[in-house]
Amino acid sequence: MLFDRVVIAGVGLIGGSMALAMKQHSLAREIVGAGRKVENLQLAVELGVIDRYTETIEDEISRADLVVVAVPVDAMERLLKRIAPRLAQNTIVTDVGSVKGAIVELAQRHLGSHFQNFVPGHPVAGTENSGVLAALAELFIAHPIILTPTFQTDSYATQQISKLWKGIGGNVLEMNVEEHDRILAATSHLPHMLAYALVNHLAKQSDSEVFFELAAGGFYDFTRIASSDAVMWRDICLHNRHEIAKDIRSLSKDLEFIAQKIDLGDGAALQQLFERAKNTRSQVGDHRQQRIKTAKE
Ligand code: NAP
Repeated sequence: MLFDRVVIAGVGLIGGSMALAMKQHSLAREIVGAGRKVENLQLAVELGVIDRYTETIEDEISRADLVVVAVPVDAMERLLKRIAPRLAQNTIVTDVGSVKGAIVELAQRHLGSHFQNFVPGHPVAGTENSGVLAALAELFIAHPIILTPTFQTDSYATQQISKLWKGIGGNVLEMNVEEHDRILAATSHLPHMLAYALVNHLAKQSDSEVFFELAAGGFYDFTRIASSDAVMWRDICLHNRHEIAKDIRSLSKDLEFIAQKIDLGDGAALQQLFERAKNTRSQVGDHRQQRIKTAKE
């Protein structure tokens, strides 16, 4: 067993999927869930996602050797403040938040000397669904898991978290927080903004029902992620605001460029632009498919 007792704060899509995967791979002897609503925690026990739950996380912290913080980003500060005084010397704390700079700052502020045992993490895996009913043991297989340890982070703690993610199928890589927030703003946060904007763009047409009725499969493929949790995405925007706003503005310029080429009737430029994107998409898409297929075999 990699861990004896694991406390998961936030048994939703990500926390629940981690719990299921840890059980499946026998990486923890006991998994204790904590969260806001008792009925959701009861459901998590009934579904076999966690072994038991607590309504007072403070009582469990001193006996845990790992605490996973898997709540929305805005709820993390309160949680870190609650658990900090109870942490045992060797307890490792990790998080799964989709932004890293803001969370590392909070952890530094609230965990005191325990900050060295805090390993910031972000599984780049998920779905548009939320809550424990959406949890999947295989969610992380072949997906990148980004760890952003600081120079203060204890190397043993980082190794343990790395073993945990590898044990449940993830491809672990390390980078610094700034790099993480810059790259994820473009690759994950920006596509969500586009999906939300596109759905709202159609919804504000006076005859929007007709638009949605006639929308093609491409529209529904492209906007699947607009069904993602609004609170989670509000928090991500607020905590990675500069990078996301910068990317939206930069993409707006690219869209304006396309609009100009269309206005001009410049077919050659448009074709060149689309071919470049098509080739890039085919290459990166094939590579990704192959990686996932190999990992699942
Ligand atoms: P989720 O399915 O909605 O689960 C969130 C969990 O946190 C629930 O158990 C919920 O408890 C609890 N929670 C919500 N608000 C809380 C609060 N104010 N105080 C304490 N607990 C609270 O969300 P998720 O998708 O797993 O996301 C969790 C974290 O993972 C977020 O930080 C997100 O950025 C990160 N993440 C998400 C994805 C993704 O694709 N969804 C991918 C990578 C990382 P109740 O059940 O009682 O409401």
